[in-house]
Amino acid sequence: MSPRYAADDIDEVRERADIIELVGEHVRLRKAGRSYVGLCPFHQEKTPSFNVDPDKRVWYCHGCNQGGSVFTFIEKVDGVTFPEAVELLADRYGVQLREVSGARKAPSRRARLLEVHDIAVEKFAAMLASNEGTAIRSYLESRGIGAEEVGRYRIGFGGWKRDGLVRSLMRRGFTGEELQAAGIATRDSAGLRDTFSGRLLFPIFDASGRAVAFGGRIVPPEHRPEGFPEGPKYLNSRESQIFKKSKILYGTNWARASVMAAKRLVLVEGYTDVIALHVAGIGETVATCGTSLTEDHMKEISTRFGDVRVILCLDSDAAGQQAMSRERTEELAGAFSPGDEVRGRGWLPVGRGWLPEVHVATLPQGKDPADFVRAEGPDEVRRVLDGSTPLVEFLLRRALEGTDLRSPEGRTRGVRRGIDVLKQVGDTLLRHEYALWLADRAGVDTYEVTRALDAVGPAQQQRSPTRATPTPSVRPSGHHRVEREALRALFAVPEMFDDDELAVSEDDFTLPLHRSLFRIASTGRPVGGAVDAARIVSRVEDVDVQRLVSELSVGEGPDANVARDTLVRLKVFALERYIVERKERLRGLDPNRDAAAYDGLFEELLELEKKKRAIAGGELGT
Ligand SMILES: [Zn+2]
Repeated sequence: MSPRYAADDIDEVRERADIIELVGEHVRLRKAGRSYVGLCPFHQEKTPSFNVDPDKRVWYCHGCNQGGSVFTFIEKVDGVTFPEAVELLADRYGVQLREVSGARKAPSRRARLLEVHDIAVEKFAAMLASNEGTAIRSYLESRGIGAEEVGRYRIGFGGWKRDGLVRSLMRRGFTGEELQAAGIATRDSAGLRDTFSGRLLFPIFDASGRAVAFGGRIVPPEHRPEGFPEGPKYLNSRESQIFKKSKILYGTNWARASVMAAKRLVLVEGYTDVIALHVAGIGETVATCGTSLTEDHMKEISTRFGDVRVILCLDSDAAGQQAMSRERTEELAGAFSPGDEVRGRGWLPVGRGWLPEVHVATLPQGKDPADFVRAEGPDEVRRVLDGSTPLVEFLLRRALEGTDLRSPEGRTRGVRRGIDVLKQVGDTLLRHEYALWLADRAGVDTYEVTRALDAVGPAQQQRSPTRATPTPSVRPSGHHRVEREALRALFAVPEMFDDDELAVSEDDFTLPLHRSLFRIASTGRPVGGAVDAARIVSRVEDVDVQRLVSELSVGEGPDANVARDTLVRLKVFALERYIVERKERLRGLDPNRDAAAYDGLFEELLELEKKKRAIAGGELGT
């Protein structure tokens, strides 16, 4: 059961939260008039349709029709629930939350999991610093990781006990279920045990620096006690509410400034590689957490860092570049597919404006980055990184490798493989550019390559099934458009609510959504008061209302004259509707038998017609 916080507290958080600052951490915003615009983090776009209004404290995207308050933004961008978003921001802006029951706030599930990790980081660090960790420390030392790095990267050791951490955390009031959910404990036939005992531990931090998971490396046999059970060489925390492998990159929290300065992000495979490159001054290095690079990672990079180049730093096989097999190539291309559901359907997110440019850098001599930088020094690593190859070119070179381009058979085989790569490139222009490159390299006619490429058809629609596809908003009918504009007018010029002559009411709206929005907006509003859009957005639960409020309140609204014209049109439409409705009812009545009802209705009809003439005539001059 998630907590419900006092509305006043939620309001206070919302008022203190700086929406421009918060959104600005994920979207590069530029001022445009009264609001700010940027590229929407929730759908793919090249021209900004994402708006943030600092006065009304709402955001809205005209591209994917999503919008809301600071809370909805945090919910979406961090994948948390509403109460969690409230907690996060309350924490950040120093607001003490009270639960509606008046009871002391019980920490959320998320907060509990974070606390488990905080404690575990401390415990593991203490274990490494203890006598039990002496051999491990010298092992780290031999890998170039000294006391300074151990402190900075909060490296720890799981100890040799079976359930030391589990016992200690349970004494502190955590349940076995919570420890399992956090990935710290594992249940086996003998009960709960520490997931990471006997392992060297690298805490994985989210971008804001909270520990959310661990990467555990087995301690080499010579440093292990006799008979200590073997296990996989690398073991990461399983996914949890706070740890999404497809989004988190190890090292992002430390790499931020360097990435922005270098305008590039270096991606390696191991945590020790990240540390070794950071130590060597290549601070823009991060690693995936036991998965291949996904589209979600790319989106994360793009929204956090904007237009940076991503360089995949690969260790080449010991046998050298020739050993880069077709399987490895496919594996690499597969690393860029958003998931199994579309794998093999031709998806390579390169050359698309909204994704970072991807390059590949191959380290010679079959060494991992940590070995390489130790052996050759930082300058040599920089040289390799600076000489990186665009991903498509890299894959095409691989495709041509091992084929004898002097024979017609060899050329055909090479070109076919190259076309397999090209048909995965989403951007047609880029695909064409590389078709020319391929023809030139393989020594075949350009026309033949482009024709073969056309024969396999255009690149598949690159649409990620995991992401909601922006649905084009249904064009509202003339009538509904007037209702909508009227609601917009009410946000911009709220005093129109108080106009007795117009007397706009809920009934004047026909769409249920418009009716509820009007009701919510006018309820509790003092005469002459403004409509607090952000307050509505964070208080109503109906997402359609939230979205509509954001859409209608963001940015510059109509001025008083336009607003009045719109409301007059709304009112005239509504009065016509009432008039038609009265006429229908009159037709169903017998003036002799139902005289009283008939007269009453007739009276109403005249009144409505008079009102309509007054409003339409007075304002529109007819
Ligand atoms: Zn959008």
